[in-house]
Amino acid sequence: CGIVGYYTYNVRRDLRFILDCLFNGLKRLEYRGYDSAGIAFDAVDAYPLAQHHKEGHQVIAEENGILEFTGPMIIKEVGKVDALERMTYDFISRDQLDLKREFRSQVGIAHTRWATHGPPSAVNSHPIPSDAEGQFVVVHNGIITNYNLLKAFLIKHGETFSTETDTEVIPKLCKFVYDRLSEKVPFPKLVMEVLKKLEGAYAVLVKSTHYPGELVACKRGSPMLLGIKEEPGARRASFSRLQDAADTKWRREAIECFIASDASAVIEYTKRVIVLEDNDVLHLCGGGYGIYNTSGENVEEAVPRVLLTL
Ligand code: GLU
Repeated sequence: CGIVGYYTYNVRRDLRFILDCLFNGLKRLEYRGYDSAGIAFDAVDAYPLAQHHKEGHQVIAEENGILEFTGPMIIKEVGKVDALERMTYDFISRDQLDLKREFRSQVGIAHTRWATHGPPSAVNSHPIPSDAEGQFVVVHNGIITNYNLLKAFLIKHGETFSTETDTEVIPKLCKFVYDRLSEKVPFPKLVMEVLKKLEGAYAVLVKSTHYPGELVACKRGSPMLLGIKEEPGARRASFSRLQDAADTKWRREAIECFIASDASAVIEYTKRVIVLEDNDVLHLCGGGYGIYNTSGENVEEAVPRVLLTL
């Protein structure tokens, strides 16, 4: 029922701050009602200092030139955000993660669920991964009305479902499309292929181990806004074309973004917001953002989106 996203690039933030953003955001959305909550975040930088321009996956270790990668941490449970927060810190101390560790890049997503398909349970809570490795991880508000057809299609192609939600078709379709690409496409383009298949209402955030340090957000019929906090003096780092995100020239920008179902969840952190419109696909990547329509055209080309100051 509520969505919160956190994105930072080149703005050094420690893990404690990042988790606070996600949990404070969720708490601000509690008034909307919910039965379960969950978060997903990366335990390591997608762009650690030494790997600044390295494309690819999250680096957890580099031994003899071989990179190892890991999926996100996903924590979710039925009940209150407070309880989820306590549980998260338990996992963090179990895994001996350092709360003071600073991140150059982070993509965190969080959710409060009001179950529509599948009863409230830990497994049905969001974020929902595509598979055990969490190659694609999704939070979703709304209802995918044709999920039954999509689920049957995916099952026919050998997929097995672990939740009873309508939402699970989204991460599964992302993986389905990704696995069949002849060459890698920009992250938003992949999500656009999936959106073409979805009917119903949604506000969705997607993160992926195949696109570390990148976040895609899209909406149709459910509200979502982007809060932007740029370092003083930074250029307005918006991409003009879908391909531009891959251009390393953008990777110098320092930007921090907050995504939420409503402004109350971001106002603590920034007063500058863009309200996303139906069929917008937002891409956060390498210190910039781009907003596209579902055909991949930059919607700001014709009419730049107004950056509201709250
Ligand atoms: N339809 C989804 C589910 O039941 C999302 C519900 C929501 O908006 O919280 O999991």
